[in-house]
Amino acid sequence: MSKKIMLITGGSRGIGAEIAKLAANHNYHVVINYTHSKDAANILVSDIQSQGGSAVAIQADCSKESEIERLFKEIDQIGTMDCLIANAGIIGGQNPISQTTEKQLKELFDINVIGLIICVREAVKRMSTELGGQGGKIVLMSSVAARTGGIAQEIHYASSKAAVDGFCLGLAKEVGNVGIRVNAVRPGLIGTSIHDLHGGMEVIQKWAAGVPMGRVGLPEEVAQTVLWLCSEASSYVHGALIDVSGGR
Ligand code: NAP
Repeated sequence: MSKKIMLITGGSRGIGAEIAKLAANHNYHVVINYTHSKDAANILVSDIQSQGGSAVAIQADCSKESEIERLFKEIDQIGTMDCLIANAGIIGGQNPISQTTEKQLKELFDINVIGLIICVREAVKRMSTELGGQGGKIVLMSSVAARTGGIAQEIHYASSKAAVDGFCLGLAKEVGNVGIRVNAVRPGLIGTSIHDLHGGMEVIQKWAAGVPMGRVGLPEEVAQTVLWLCSEASSYVHGALIDVSGGR
């Protein structure tokens, strides 16, 4: 495989799908991971291929260690991974703290935090120059909710993203001298179906009044930042938490 390989967890829809399209335009071989959206993932692969790009879809539940390990082994068969975009995530329900359950928290943290960390572990095992790898770039998908606490009744989500930020800062210290650059992107209000949980676009358009730029962001705008973080143009950017939030 002459092209650089980029794995995007949760690449079938929303922000991940826009990263996949942009990465294919930048000559990456894109691995689009998904859990349930087989049709969306396959359509995305076909779209990319019809534009002359290179992509494959691989199903794996990134909240489960065994499935993450299988995903990385399947990618080993394709070639050497250059970039991991740990993007898969969920809000994990909407309810006040008084009604929060252990089951809900475990499901949420299994994907947003534990699965993300296990994906990074598998990537570092392959990328680290200390372990025989050729280096690489890792981008973690956090959220401005990590900094602001998010919205009422979704504070479990904000706390999971705060864990991602802390992980990013520490990981940067651990892997900075073994050829790996790691950063986190913190999107604000971005127009994707993740917001269906609390009323969809109609509701978030109203919330946009509280964004200094006065509008909802586009998934493409997050994708541009991710691709920049994977490029040589950001060669000294490491351990950064980068807001893509219209000033929110
Ligand atoms: P989305 O449109 O709901 O898409 C979520 C993606 O994650 C889908 O591709 C989904 O796959 C995948 N996914 C969910 N659980 C998974 C699992 N267990 N294993 C593998 N893939 C899984 O969400 P989005 O808005 O693009 O969000 C992407 C990331 O950005 C998330 O981490 C989110 O927290 C973060 N973020 C989003 C916003 C925003 O306003 N949209 C703001 C801040 C941060 P399936 O299609 O198979 O279900």
